[in-house]
Amino acid sequence: MTMLDRLKEANRTAVAERDRRRALKAWTRARAAGAPAAARPPSVLPEAAAEMALRPEPRLSVFATPGGIAFTLLLIALLAWPFALPGFDPSTFLEVQKILAATIVVIGLNLIAGFTGQLSLGQKIFVLIGGYTVGVMTTRFDSSLLGNHWISLVVAIALGAAAGAMLGLPALRVKGAYLSIVTLAFVPIFYTLFNSELLKPVFGGAQGIGDIATPIGNIARPPNRTINIPFTGTAMTDVDYYLVLVLIFGLLFFLARNIVKSRWGRAMTAVRESEIAAKSSGVRVYKVKVAAFMVSAAYASLAGALLTSFSTAQISPESAAAVHIRDSFVYVVMMIIGGTGTLAGPLVGAALVSLIRLLIPKVGEILDFDLKRWTTTLLAILALVSVVAAPGGTVGIINDRIHRRRTRHRYRNPPPRPPALPASLVRPTPREDAATGDVVLETREMSKIFGGLRANDSVSIRVERGTVHSLIGPNGSGKTTFINVVTGVYAPEEGSVYFAGERIDGQPAFITVERGMGRTFQNLQLWRRMTVLENVMVGMHVRVGSGFIGNMVRTGRSRREEARIKARAMGLLQFVGLEDVADQLAGTLPYGKQRYLEIARALALDPVLLILDEPAAGLNPAEVHDLMDLIRRIQRTGITVFLIEHHMDLVMGVSDRISVLDYGSKIADGTPAEIQADQRVVEAYLGAEAHV
Ligand code: ADP
Ligand code: MG
Repeated sequence: MTMLDRLKEANRTAVAERDRRRALKAWTRARAAGAPAAARPPSVLPEAAAEMALRPEPRLSVFATPGGIAFTLLLIALLAWPFALPGFDPSTFLEVQKILAATIVVIGLNLIAGFTGQLSLGQKIFVLIGGYTVGVMTTRFDSSLLGNHWISLVVAIALGAAAGAMLGLPALRVKGAYLSIVTLAFVPIFYTLFNSELLKPVFGGAQGIGDIATPIGNIARPPNRTINIPFTGTAMTDVDYYLVLVLIFGLLFFLARNIVKSRWGRAMTAVRESEIAAKSSGVRVYKVKVAAFMVSAAYASLAGALLTSFSTAQISPESAAAVHIRDSFVYVVMMIIGGTGTLAGPLVGAALVSLIRLLIPKVGEILDFDLKRWTTTLLAILALVSVVAAPGGTVGIINDRIHRRRTRHRYRNPPPRPPALPASLVRPTPREDAATGDVVLETREMSKIFGGLRANDSVSIRVERGTVHSLIGPNGSGKTTFINVVTGVYAPEEGSVYFAGERIDGQPAFITVERGMGRTFQNLQLWRRMTVLENVMVGMHVRVGSGFIGNMVRTGRSRREEARIKARAMGLLQFVGLEDVADQLAGTLPYGKQRYLEIARALALDPVLLILDEPAAGLNPAEVHDLMDLIRRIQRTGITVFLIEHHMDLVMGVSDRISVLDYGSKIADGTPAEIQADQRVVEAYLGAEAHV
């Protein structure tokens, strides 16, 4: 190729590239304006669409959402507040700081309780840990670096997270109400610790630690008890400290928001909505719970450290452990009233409850009645009413409204179809790394026994690569048990399981998932309160690797990854025909679509083997016909399909091989024609029908 040719070639590429971008821009603009002609994307689009779909959102784009704008305005108002009001009153100002500190605790609590579904009733412990960290460090190490207030804040975060890990590792082994009781039990334990005579030199016993560094102006104190602006040596005023607190609050909210909207946040919500489905998508449930608990503890600890610094200049274990139990409870009430599992919930809840707590004594004065004593009772009643009447809390109600309006709006004005994505994004792909051998799955004389019942009795089945292999049998014959053993939900009592040539029995579910086994469930296990798109994105959990901290600060890597899995998830939704409902909540879909969504989610892990447990249950005849087509399309991509089904037309129509179970034993194995002619199979089915 001559130099001139090369130049011409480069020029052609550049021109094509420019045209493509122009066409895409014009199309996007027209679509935004709602022009009907723009409903069909220009022909050059597939590549450009891929490019657009794969483009990460800019790091700060989050501020352009309605919630982001509202929050930014709130921050600006809080920052401007001391300067805007003439005759600014330090005591109101103190109350606002307390509300902000409480909000920080509740934001953290909401991460573990609201988004991950693990209710902790001991958050006050972490607040105390933060408070004591500042107290101990700034008074015991006076002049050294360790006595520096800012360093003690950082240590408070670390100690809070460490305490969260220490307590969370055992506590999160248990579930539901037991977890709440365990976390509640932390409170008296720590109360005793801080109160103990033995540790008095450190924690100061019942009196606690006084004289802690603080920026409060009206307390006279020696220079080593003031808080200095770092690197300047200038003492901080209470207004300065307030501004710092507002900024820290803004940052913590932003970080929590990033987690919630990231891969980790989706994993957390998946754990809340269905643990077994989360496991089967490769989410390490326990790890996710512990991580969320550590973050929530770190938030509470930092809030406690700040609270001690600006408000009281002292920390003590209080008069009784009950005080801390009450405070922990108030945090929960704040979360519930604001909106459990919503981003804005903690802000609204902490503000509302704090206002109520401030107003109660005032109302008492008017009524000439000691209403203050009833504060906790009144809050408890309020929480009770909220749980019964509006479980979503204040923000939940508003979100529901918005969602319903949006759905109605979309129903009336359907948006133009998104541009068709390129085939590489739409087509499911079996992963390469497990592609060795012709036998994908094999069980050898495998038995699973439930208290004497041999649900699987010495079952040997070989599933060959690229086939559709069906497992049939009457109800209760052990089909679901078979796939639960194969996917690692149960360990078999006897025999062995091989996947792509490697022995896998006894390994946990997330390992089998990582090796390329995707499954759906007989009883639908979708994450109902996540969108359709998010469901599929969690399915991709094991195919991406950005870490917790990366997600928290939205690194370039995590944003690129996010864009990539979003585009891929959208592609898989197109493959199963659900792209139109991508942003609806999964729980609102009709049955048939929910089944398809489970399939799309399983395809998201690029499975070598796709296991479908009665996918036709609850489908109408037309839908069954579609399903047959879908299974064939999946097989054509090279993915091996293992199908459990009762619907005989479907089974006989798509299967290459069929195995039959009866009372836990395999009674036949063969092609559809062989199975239909098999006398024992006919008997097993007739027998079963005779019992029904
Ligand atoms: P199928 O999917 O073929 O309808 P299953 O595998 O669900 O059958 O059940 C097979 C047998 O094992 C049934 O008798 C069922 O009651 C029993 N079984 C299934 N799971 C459990 C379990 N977790 N504990 C005890 N028994 C179980
Ligand atoms: Mg079953």
